[in-house]
Amino acid sequence: MSMIQPSGAVFPRSSGHQNGLKVFLLLFSGFGLACLSGCWESPSAHSSSPRVFRNILCTTGMAGDMVAEVAGPDVSVQVLMGPGVDPHLFSPSPQDVEKMALADAIVYSGLHLEAGLSAYLERLSRKNPHVYALADGIADRDQLIRVAHELYDPHFWNDLELWQAAALSLGEKLAEWNPEQATGYQSRAAAYAARLAELQEWGRSEIARIPESRRILITAHDAFGYLGRSLNIEVEAVQGISTNTEASIRTIEDLVEAIVTRQIPAIFSESSVSDKSVRAIIDGCQRRGHDLKLGGVLYSDALGPPGSGAETFVGMYRSNVNAMVSGLSD
Ligand SMILES: [Zn+2]
Repeated sequence: MSMIQPSGAVFPRSSGHQNGLKVFLLLFSGFGLACLSGCWESPSAHSSSPRVFRNILCTTGMAGDMVAEVAGPDVSVQVLMGPGVDPHLFSPSPQDVEKMALADAIVYSGLHLEAGLSAYLERLSRKNPHVYALADGIADRDQLIRVAHELYDPHFWNDLELWQAAALSLGEKLAEWNPEQATGYQSRAAAYAARLAELQEWGRSEIARIPESRRILITAHDAFGYLGRSLNIEVEAVQGISTNTEASIRTIEDLVEAIVTRQIPAIFSESSVSDKSVRAIIDGCQRRGHDLKLGGVLYSDALGPPGSGAETFVGMYRSNVNAMVSGLSD
């Protein structure tokens, strides 16, 4: 397994002086992001010489974990959005723009998860074949949760069948980018997918241990729709599929009513989202005489910090399922 490089560790590559010039132009010309999609072009798009993939930049930790697993030990993976960072609200710093300019390839999650980068990344991916959205690896769009016309719930890593499909597609994409290493990419993708299949089976059997009347997950924002669908647990959230709007008082009152009526024991906060609305629901239930407990912190849209047990995707998923089972079973 290759290591995900700490943010800021940039791997040198053969055309470094050209990139250095691009970065200089980016940082000092003031064009920033708007310029980058025009400035950064793939050398391999214009040259017959093989491109070396040593430095892949990923937006989220979940994407970074998958790329590290599938790309193997020869590739350095950097992640833009570390533990606790909300991808819905993320906007890049000049240093992030520099990292994007220096990367040999960019892999992002997609479906507008990275709202502040979405338009830029989609535009860039049309010009540059080495910018790829993992969500594009889901061939059957009917498997995604549609929330409006042409708008899908972006949290598809929480359905491990979809995340497996994304891993296998990533293996094919890397093989297309670097055919010399195709066999390695494909076999590592298959091994990772097999681990995810086992993880999903484990998750289903764990969630089934929660008494049926208590099998309801209430969280700050709607990041667990895919998990609910795949593990057979009802899901409610204070905010919608993005965190960019305030929770409404009406939604909080409706949830308090439902929790008190059904005697739901626990609600969950999220590592990358403010727990303000969750606290408001706990207070509301307390005023109604129902002692709603905080079931723990879920890792919804970002991996956990080192030592948390959730610093890998598999660890994150296990940590979330364990928190749900212990919070709702007592
Ligand atoms: Zn989210």
